[in-house]
Amino acid sequence: MKAYDGMYIGGAWRPAAGPDVIEVVNPADGQVIATVPAGTVEDVDAAVRAARAALPAWAATAPAERATRLAVLRDVLVARQDEIARTVTAELGAPPKLSQTVHAAVPIVVAGSYAELAATYPFEERTGNSTVLHEPVGVVGAITPWNYPLHQIVAKAAPALAAGCTIVVKPAEDTPLVARLLAEAMHEAGVPAGVFNLVTGLGPVAGQALAEHPGVDLVSFTGSTAVGRRIGAVAAAAVKKVALELGGKSANVILPGADLARAVNVGVANVMSNSGQTCSAWTRMLVHRDQYDEAVELAAAAAAKYGDRIGPLVNAKQQERVRGYIEKGVAEGARLVAGGPDAPREQGCFVSPTVFADVTPDMTIAQEEIFGPVLSVLRYEDEEDALRIANGTVYGLAGAVWAADEAQAVAFARRMETGQVDINGGRFNPLAPFGGYKQSGVGRELGVHGLTEYLQTKSLQF
Ligand code: NAD
Repeated sequence: MKAYDGMYIGGAWRPAAGPDVIEVVNPADGQVIATVPAGTVEDVDAAVRAARAALPAWAATAPAERATRLAVLRDVLVARQDEIARTVTAELGAPPKLSQTVHAAVPIVVAGSYAELAATYPFEERTGNSTVLHEPVGVVGAITPWNYPLHQIVAKAAPALAAGCTIVVKPAEDTPLVARLLAEAMHEAGVPAGVFNLVTGLGPVAGQALAEHPGVDLVSFTGSTAVGRRIGAVAAAAVKKVALELGGKSANVILPGADLARAVNVGVANVMSNSGQTCSAWTRMLVHRDQYDEAVELAAAAAAKYGDRIGPLVNAKQQERVRGYIEKGVAEGARLVAGGPDAPREQGCFVSPTVFADVTPDMTIAQEEIFGPVLSVLRYEDEEDALRIANGTVYGLAGAVWAADEAQAVAFARRMETGQVDINGGRFNPLAPFGGYKQSGVGRELGVHGLTEYLQTKSLQF
């Protein structure tokens, strides 16, 4: 067990202002693997001051210099990829292969993409008799969750730095260790003191202090809708910019004529990956009534294969929450065809890969984000019915459409109220804007759209 006592503020590891600590627990076996300081209002204040002090110089650097720092950061992340993967496995419980191929690998791609964008983005444009300058928004306060713990920080920090902003990050309580590794990587990459700062701590203490701090110009939050709503309200009251990446309940729409086995198997894999702890997961599978029974059989068989291959949930509270949803699904009349509420192992926060059939759109498990390895399979009558069900939640983050004919899938996707749709198994694109319609959020991350979130315009007239 390691007891870390510093927070990365103003380019150095500084002791925390208060004595409290947060225990970091490995959810696979319940062992405490480390403690980190529980930051207070004072720590947040020191970090925001450091970020403010560093802002003028960083905002004035040539974009090419910022691009170079980000390229070096990417190289450091490559060099430390194994250590990053091991850390995510230890604090989140992700299987080692997933930690390597997703948790450690995606941030490398994202950091690289912003190295390139910083070098190529036109930070000045002409329109009529004006020159429009794209200037950094200022100091960013980033509050991030535990489900993709490094990706979610890098998806904010890399575009913020590319834009010329400075940043204070408050990572999730469950996964502060990989956030510490990122701070080390920033240091190693030669990012100037105060440009990137890290304060570990509890959401309602350090997170809230960061969201409320008058020295923060933009709050970027990823996490639950409940907390996001509060942060949005705090930011609005202070007339601060805010970006919110919240929950989802995405639909995987399988149209008649699609390759059913492929659509179902890819759909189940999408839900089970990261033990279902993915905001963009396709947790509702929509199947035409003529193919419904076959799809349910395929989904149950696919889920059964996952038995031992998925990791635990992040903590005991999430495990209980997810098992509660499974019990609710049974109570509301859905039919369990794989998994169930009983813990598959005595030790660790595991939940069985679970599939529900006969789910109707009004059921709780068809409406609320469960954030566990739980798939609901819903029946539709025709395309209009499928569209109504697909759009019938408060969320709109992602989705999928499968059809024999790509044009038919695209036509359906155009009518979906959601920020991303994968057509016939289209792959994740780290340059495509990611973010929500409706209550899934405000703003976009990744690629050029993610960069512009951290810029504001100034027009000079000639
Ligand atoms: P959460 O929203 O409470 O935590 C996310 C981040 O917000 C953490 O860093 C946390 O410390 C911070 N936070 C908490 N309260 C805060 C406050 N009052 N002010 C400022 N910051 C605060 O999420 P959780 O409790 O870890 O998970 C609960 C549910 O949220 C999950 O079951 C899931 O449905 C959803 N969730 C969604 C995502 C996503 O990517 N969309 C990620 C994590 C969790």
